[in-house]
Amino acid sequence: MKTVTVNIVTPDGPVYDSEVSMVVAKTTSGEIGVLAGHIPTVAPLAIGAVKLKKADGSTELAAVSGGFIEVRPDKISILAPSAEVASTIDIARAKEALARAEERVQKQKTDNIDFKRADLSLKRALNRINVHQGNI
Ligand code: ATP
Repeated sequence: MKTVTVNIVTPDGPVYDSEVSMVVAKTTSGEIGVLAGHIPTVAPLAIGAVKLKKADGSTELAAVSGGFIEVRPDKISILAPSAEVASTIDIARAKEALARAEERVQKQKTDNIDFKRADLSLKRALNRINVHQGNI
């Protein structure tokens, strides 16, 4: 099967660079599956998992917190505000972030806290937990 280079880049630097046979990512309008030779496309990403299917049949997972996927026939670039491959996710940190975000979402009605911000933080934390656990 043909392969394509995938880069995942954040403001802190690159977090992934490898040859894969397929990428599945969550765009803001639904899941996109991309094979080598795909026509050029750019799409905004939701907070979600990116599945990186290797030629040997294995799959790696990354947690991505939005950004864009840029597809070219020989290269796929994912540019995200933050992204982590599953093995680098600090699960304790994600669980603490989830607890903080849940508390902020619950207090929202009484305190005037930015609900959208708390909700995004909650989604990032849940996504990291799911990706770490391979639960996607
Ligand atoms: P936290 O409240 O724990 O900082 P956050 O969702 O606000 O979580 P981000 O702003 O998305 O964090 O990311 C800030 C930096 O920390 C990024 O480089 C991101 O990759 C890293 N990061 C955040 N949470 C984790 C985690 N659980 N494991 C590994 N790296 C993480």
